[in-house]
Amino acid sequence: MGSQRAFGTAFGGQMSLARWHDGEWEAPALRPLAALELHPGAHALHYGSSCFEGLKAFRGPKSEARIFRLDRHVARMRASAEQLCLPVPGADMLTEMVVDAVRANLGEIPEPPGALYVRPTLIGTDPNIGAAAAPATEALLYVITSPGGDYFGGGLHPLRLAVETERPRTVPRFGSVKTGANYAMALGVTREARAAYRADQVLFLNQGLVQETGASNLVLLDEGRLLTPTVDGTFLEGVTRDSLLTLASDLGFKVEELPLTLDDLLAWAEQGEIALSGTAAVLAPVGTLVVDGADVRVGGGAVGATTLRLRSHLVDVQTGRAPAPSGWITEVR
Ligand SMILES: *Cc1c(COP(=O)(O)O)cnc(C)c1O
Repeated sequence: MGSQRAFGTAFGGQMSLARWHDGEWEAPALRPLAALELHPGAHALHYGSSCFEGLKAFRGPKSEARIFRLDRHVARMRASAEQLCLPVPGADMLTEMVVDAVRANLGEIPEPPGALYVRPTLIGTDPNIGAAAAPATEALLYVITSPGGDYFGGGLHPLRLAVETERPRTVPRFGSVKTGANYAMALGVTREARAAYRADQVLFLNQGLVQETGASNLVLLDEGRLLTPTVDGTFLEGVTRDSLLTLASDLGFKVEELPLTLDDLLAWAEQGEIALSGTAAVLAPVGTLVVDGADVRVGGGAVGATTLRLRSHLVDVQTGRAPAPSGWITEVR
């Protein structure tokens, strides 16, 4: 079963797929998960014409699948496709492809806190290595799934974040695009921080302002407040981040989006909690910041009570143990 394997290494048996050529989408179809036939000169392999999404379907109380904030993920995928000059899939078609893929793999959704991670992917496929300065003329959109247990299988442990103030995570126009190039760009910096400081992740700052890590947004918490950097196009606007802003506000927290500097972060670390938010990690506690090679403890260095509280509230909303705001859950049977 997927829940025994490392996150992202087990796959649901069915995928949905649609090809685009001659300016049109073919009707999407389900098929068994299998290797793709791709020309070695395919546009995406050479010129980076690829983007993706990551969302989750949870098993609800009546064994139904509950897809979390599908509309937001669909909208973001379409925005990413637009930025990469890939054909933009219609919202209805993309929604249907995700629903179809979830339904086809319904039996593989683990019990909470496990979930079916869903990965819509769009790639340029035309065989043309001369198309460096031209958009893809053929494309493939597919939705694969990955049943998995909790991302932190061994239990929540406070993360070590290395703070990077010089080297950027991405380039200015791609900050809010979910594309592999951004991960590739952060990889070397992250690998170095692992080796030098045993860091789990790197927190990137841009011109003195806190952005995010390579794959999650940053939030500051205490018993009564949730603070997070203002959306400015330099970081990926997480659906989890947005959901936490809403849920925390509903719970009576004072919620604020504002520009944050390293000094703000260090001051906060003396008394408050810091956490990372994202679909895979949900809300993960940060225990240590590594600044210029020196460890700075966050709170007491342990997992914060507010982080745990908000994390379990979000999971309750996702899994149906607490009511979800209208439109957040797409039920599939
Ligand atoms: C996907 C992603 C996130 C988290 O977004 P969610 O919608 O909360 O999963 C954060 N940063 C980057 C760079 C991402 O690609």
